[in-house]
Amino acid sequence: MLSGRSVKILIIEDSANDAELIAKQVTKGGIDCAFHRVETEEALRGALAEFDPDIVLSDFSLPQFDGPRVLDVVVAERPDLPFIFVSGTIGEVRAIDAMKRGATDYVLKTNLARLAPAIDRALREASVRNARRQAEEMLRDNERRLRDIVETSQDWIWELDAGGCFTFSSRSVEGILGFTPAELLGRDFRSFLHESDRDGAEGRLPAAPGESVSGVIARWRRKDGSWRWLERNAVALSGPNAELAGFRGTDRDITERRAQQIRITRLSRIHAMLSSINSAIVRIRDRDEMLAEACRIAVERGGYARAATHLLDPGRMTLKTVACAGLDSPALADAQISTLQEPGEEYLSMAALAVQSNEAVVCNDLAKDSQPVLQRRDLLELRLRSVIVLPLIVDGTAVGVLSLYAREAQIFDASERNVLSELAGNISFALQYFQKEDAVQFLSYFDPLTGLAKRTLFCERLGRLMQQADAEQRSVAVLAFDLERLGAINDSFGRHVGDRLLELIADRLRDRFPDTQRLAYLDGGSFAVAFTGLTDASTEGPELRDRVHELIREPIQIESHEIRVSARFGLACSPDDGDTGEMLVSNAEGARNHAKNADETYVHYALKLNTGVAERMVLERKLVRALELGEFVLHYQPIVHLDHGGISSVEALLRWQDPERGLVMPGEFIPTLESMRLIVEVGKWAMQQASRDCQHWRSHGFPDMRVAVNVSALQIRRREFADSVLEIVSGWRQGLCGLDLEITESMLMQDVQGCVRTLQQLREAGVRFAIDDFGTGYSSLAHLFKLPVDSLKIDRSFIAGVVGDPGSMTIVRTIITLAKEFHMTAIAEGVETVEQLELLRIMKCEMAQGYLFARPMPGEKLLNKLLARRGKKLDSAFKVETEAKVESEEEVESDS
Ligand code: C2E
Ligand code: CA
Ligand code: CA
Repeated sequence: MLSGRSVKILIIEDSANDAELIAKQVTKGGIDCAFHRVETEEALRGALAEFDPDIVLSDFSLPQFDGPRVLDVVVAERPDLPFIFVSGTIGEVRAIDAMKRGATDYVLKTNLARLAPAIDRALREASVRNARRQAEEMLRDNERRLRDIVETSQDWIWELDAGGCFTFSSRSVEGILGFTPAELLGRDFRSFLHESDRDGAEGRLPAAPGESVSGVIARWRRKDGSWRWLERNAVALSGPNAELAGFRGTDRDITERRAQQIRITRLSRIHAMLSSINSAIVRIRDRDEMLAEACRIAVERGGYARAATHLLDPGRMTLKTVACAGLDSPALADAQISTLQEPGEEYLSMAALAVQSNEAVVCNDLAKDSQPVLQRRDLLELRLRSVIVLPLIVDGTAVGVLSLYAREAQIFDASERNVLSELAGNISFALQYFQKEDAVQFLSYFDPLTGLAKRTLFCERLGRLMQQADAEQRSVAVLAFDLERLGAINDSFGRHVGDRLLELIADRLRDRFPDTQRLAYLDGGSFAVAFTGLTDASTEGPELRDRVHELIREPIQIESHEIRVSARFGLACSPDDGDTGEMLVSNAEGARNHAKNADETYVHYALKLNTGVAERMVLERKLVRALELGEFVLHYQPIVHLDHGGISSVEALLRWQDPERGLVMPGEFIPTLESMRLIVEVGKWAMQQASRDCQHWRSHGFPDMRVAVNVSALQIRRREFADSVLEIVSGWRQGLCGLDLEITESMLMQDVQGCVRTLQQLREAGVRFAIDDFGTGYSSLAHLFKLPVDSLKIDRSFIAGVVGDPGSMTIVRTIITLAKEFHMTAIAEGVETVEQLELLRIMKCEMAQGYLFARPMPGEKLLNKLLARRGKKLDSAFKVETEAKVESEEEVESDS
């Protein structure tokens, strides 16, 4: 029979006898079955659902409802159920009608012997129909699924005939190449490939049926004529006789990915090159050797085909090759280039142009660009395609050029040009100091944003000016001024607007005072101008102020903002207000600060003194009391290892808990402590307190914790300094000292010999040393090398500029290189943003501290945080401060 289980037969019959008869007949026919009889429509519907028959046998004429109606119900409910009329009479016409409406068969009650075979056949047919329908459904599903995949895929799915012409294309091709599928059909795929990709590996398809290729990368032409990089996977299809019938495959648009990869590779390549050249600049003391090394690195690490430096022979106005690397063709190496127009030549060479204009000159395609290029044919024969010539500028004048040649066209784009200008800047800087026979004071003489001298250089220049003026018995005046609201401008319009403002102000100053030797950018929005020949400061001072103020107050248009700024001024004149450059500047600044506090626009130092004294005396008295009453406290800021996020040291920062004013920051009282020499005692207390706190943390499960304490110049200069530190060191349990000291560059330079001895002695006792605010002062490398110092702390001002400002970036990178060179740890200070952190990581800076990680906090709070961090993901306990923007240190404390 049909299957192992019994067949369920639903009988619609008013006569129980007839039903019995039918059942008997069916059973007799050898069908194993179960019966259910109904005689109303309601019962029929119920049975269709519950009894779930395999076949329906129905009488044609029923008292309660008739055969055709039964058929309609069954067909509607279960269209595939076999249905047989079993009736006394039915008649030809009605029988045909019934079959049309969906009945499977009819058997006369007078001929019941036919019933069993009829059922058997109906069931068989139904089962075949079912199987077919299921198969069809499955096929339809599959097709739908495939179509969905093809149509929604980002990838381009296609088929080619055996000759390589398109026979199918998914719609995604429109997004990728701009063609509609219809536009492709019948066309050879190769006609879309880049000429040089057509016949090579890039145009490859599988050779024989069943074979495949994958990861084939080729350039395809878009409808708009531009090119896209696609990556192909394909199989060859076989026809009925196993012959090659065509190809099916997918292509993925990898243009962006590729561009990004190339950018990243190139960036890291150039970054590596810059670092190595910086390190060469620092290391090598011979000019020509340094230039040769720079060229070699540009070729080997930078990937340029050739690099050359030429220096100007000023008398003869020719450029002579000093160093070159790559493709050492004598024709190029021996070239002497005139910077003047040659007789008979209509144009200047690129190098001459660079020297005359002080700007980089680029030819991005020697084969196509029509600009004048010397020896173009020679260069092309060497298969070079692009050239950049960068001027090397010392004190505003070009002294030579650095030329880089590449095999690729269009390589010197804006971003590459920027980096290379930075490189040329570094080499120029080095040249400047080779000229002065001092190799490494190049770190920071000029402010990169404004291009003006920084404090150190300005003071140096002032000193010279004062010597001259002294001889002529003339006075030198310094007018220092501070832009008001710079912080607010940064906050409301963005830092770039603030930066632009400073640049524009610097430009105006340069316009008005063309002798740039007399201009300075001190820092944080403050400038200084020097004047000579003042005879009466009380009348001429305010006039100078007016001249400068006029320049500044003129509205400034930046982007869509019209910005108006004003300033506060301070004046100091030699010799009464100071007899060194440093003193004049700092007194002019003092006067300016006084102007700010007193809400004046202008104060002359001499006049300020009288009013300042009383205030200072009050502060001095308070500070003495503060020390007696224990009002000084230390806050600690974690120093984070950038590679694993761990914390193994903190910096101690002094605060004064003034009962009247609350927490006072060191900037406000340390200068006074220093001028009173009280800093010696406060400093000693700080070392003791920090030692106690650190030992406390050590005993709470942080046995390797170290604490760094800032030391003032006044402390270190005292003879008993070493002894007092040794005494503190001996107090550390088990003699394992965790005390670090932070000193500034200038302290070290004042008495190198004495310092080295002290430092060495303390180092043997386990004290480590860091140079604080590194990069802001003079550091002669020769000295740095000899110093027993463990780390360099990169000044906050450079970190603040590291993201946007190439000058700061150079300095930071140089310091990191320096530190590595001398086996010291570089610590970045004042890291506030994730972008700064990312860059520092890229530059391989080892450690950092800053608000991004945590603000300074009391010792107990630090310990709690360290404990909370433990077991958690690193960084998480210190993340709170990063997320919640906190206004001040006190608020940080109070909300915990
Ligand atoms: P410093 O040694 O350069 O200390 C770092 C300064 O940067 C601290 O300022 C610190 O609060 C701040 N800082 C840390 N991270 C960030 C940041 O992400 N953004 C910004 N904007 N600032 C950050 P603080 O505490 O006001 O100290 C100022 C200076 O006072 C110190 O500069 C140090 O030279 C001096 N100082 C502090 N404590 C002592 C001390 O015990 N003895 C001596 N002699 N000087 C101290
Ligand atoms: Ca410090
Ligand atoms: Ca510092």
